[in-house]
Amino acid sequence: MSLDLSQYIASYPDYPEPGVLFRDISPLLEDGAAYAQATDEIADFARERNVDMVVGPEARGFIVGCPVAYKLGTGFSPARKEGKLPGETQTVTYDLEYGTSSLSLRKNAVKPGQRVLVTDDLLATGGTIEATIELVEKLGGVVAGCAFIIELNELNGSDKLKDYDVLSLLKY
Ligand code: 5GP
Repeated sequence: MSLDLSQYIASYPDYPEPGVLFRDISPLLEDGAAYAQATDEIADFARERNVDMVVGPEARGFIVGCPVAYKLGTGFSPARKEGKLPGETQTVTYDLEYGTSSLSLRKNAVKPGQRVLVTDDLLATGGTIEATIELVEKLGGVVAGCAFIIELNELNGSDKLKDYDVLSLLKY
């Protein structure tokens, strides 16, 4: 029987700052059956799109992406804040609400033509996943799908993903 995953999301008003309603996936991660269901649903989506590599941005993208990669039998590569990865990297800078941030990926993480799932816990404005997509594409990868546990409708992140197949397990 499938679980209602919305029952495993906690909401925190005014976190991390006043006016923000933070959606927290911790209760889902702390429940074996709920975490497994979310992982399986994302893995099914990826399998249908012949994904052969998974990439997720720091830090909760690792928690979502790693078990999916294990399920698929593919590799996983972390997109990390600039300066956190050794060796040759590709870096992109993207806009935040206030200021900018950077994400890097190992240059050998994705082979040209590889079909990549990019995944994170939550889609808000879409800036983080757009940067992750740009990294994959700069390395010659094909973004075969984007998957999230949560999508926040009002921030219109999906506008940035019109050219991609998107799975959001929950929408608010
Ligand atoms: P975006 O770049 O789409 O605006 O923001 C998404 C990124 O910020 C994700 O990496 C996500 O982890 C984090 N984030 C923003 N708002 C929330 C939230 O309400 N809950 C959680 N869990 N993460 C958030």
